[in-house]
Amino acid sequence: MDFDLTEEHRVFQKFIRDFAEKEVVPLIEEAEEKNVFPKQLFKKMGEMGFLCPRYPQELGGGGGDKITECIMVEELSRVNAGIASSLMLQSGLGTQPIYRFGSEEQKQKFLVPAIKGEKISAFGLTEPDAGSDAASIKTTAVRDGDDYVINGTKMFITNGPICDYVVAVAYTDPTKRGEGINLFIVEKGTPGFSVSRKLDKVGNKSIETGELVFEDCRVPAKNMIGEKEGGGFDMVADTLISGRITYGSRCTGTAQAAYELSVQYAKERIQFGKPIIKFQATRFKLAEMAMNIDIMRSYTYRVAWMYDQGKKVRKESSMVKLFTSETLQKILSDSMQIHGGYGYMMEYPIQRHWRDGRLFTVTEGTSEVQRLVIARESGF
Ligand SMILES: Cc1cc2nc3c(=O)[nH]c(=O)nc-3n(C[C@H](O)[C@H](O)[C@H](O)COP(=O)(O)OP(=O)(O)OC[C@H]3O[C@@H](n4cnc5c(N)ncnc54)[C@H](O)[C@@H]3O)c2cc1C
Repeated sequence: MDFDLTEEHRVFQKFIRDFAEKEVVPLIEEAEEKNVFPKQLFKKMGEMGFLCPRYPQELGGGGGDKITECIMVEELSRVNAGIASSLMLQSGLGTQPIYRFGSEEQKQKFLVPAIKGEKISAFGLTEPDAGSDAASIKTTAVRDGDDYVINGTKMFITNGPICDYVVAVAYTDPTKRGEGINLFIVEKGTPGFSVSRKLDKVGNKSIETGELVFEDCRVPAKNMIGEKEGGGFDMVADTLISGRITYGSRCTGTAQAAYELSVQYAKERIQFGKPIIKFQATRFKLAEMAMNIDIMRSYTYRVAWMYDQGKKVRKESSMVKLFTSETLQKILSDSMQIHGGYGYMMEYPIQRHWRDGRLFTVTEGTSEVQRLVIARESGF
């Protein structure tokens, strides 16, 4: 058993860390303040071939593996979880259904430009009345000649306000709960497709999140992913399984940021005549954080490796998401505690990680949903 990263992984890790610090950090303040994603990052990373690091080089990707993608997400999340999330969606949810199940024409028209950063993607599953119970979505797609006519509303869609296309999940046969579902690529500018509002969030301010509306939105039948009606739920599951592994790195990056800020603050803050890092209560918190971050990272890598080996990881991907997002909450809470009153002030960066990380037990399946998946996959 080899638990080490390869030489390629390590070179990439250094490269992406430098990129994050030099090219992303200067953009954070404005993006957070104005709630506008710095779109130039898509192009910049696409041109360098690491916007979608695990897709083949023939398609413009980095030709790496799942661990490479995890490294990218961790390093970007370490500097800013919001920006990381928007980019992570591009290498995952917004492209994976086309990569795995799309036609050659769809790959050339949507996937390749997305990998190159020329088109921004989004993934629309959640609706105002359908979150955890995804099979209860109400969006429909009805065949009419060479088109499908889509009606419905999608809620909380990452990149929604800035996307060039969204992979929208809809019922082609609403009588078949969970079964009669398909995925459609809907392009920006298609009549009947609009962003009804941009949402104002507590954290992750640098991602643009929106509500999308489809009103008699006519989409060519060739934009349906897959060859027949029905079976789209398996594509959604396939997409989410991959996403939940990457999510482990999103949590690890945020945890690492909180830990580094806490160590630095604890060394600088003097109380009772010495730096607070000298107090056992602080040292124990930091020691526990260091341990948990190592476990978060190692477990995420392990499941990413299993994914690369083609193993079935439905249960393990939920375990990654559940463990890393829940462990992160304790790390963030302890980080805030170490910062005392200053941590609660907007001028100290720890509050941003705290606000950003609070989301992570909710998106891409809540902790309760992950427990349901783990229980079901464990046979009870
Ligand atoms: C910032 C942000 C970005 C997002 N981005 C996207 C995106 O790009 N695309 C997309 O499709 N969606 C996106 N989402 C939606 C996200 O995936 C959902 O919020 C999530 O799936 C939970 O759904 P919900 O918010 O409707 O909560 P609900 O499903 O209403 O859940 C509310 C509470 O009830 C609990 N609960 C529900 N059912 C059960 C049960 N059976 N047993 C036990 N407890 C249960 C939940 O765990 C939760 O605690 C995003 C959300 C946010 C906030």
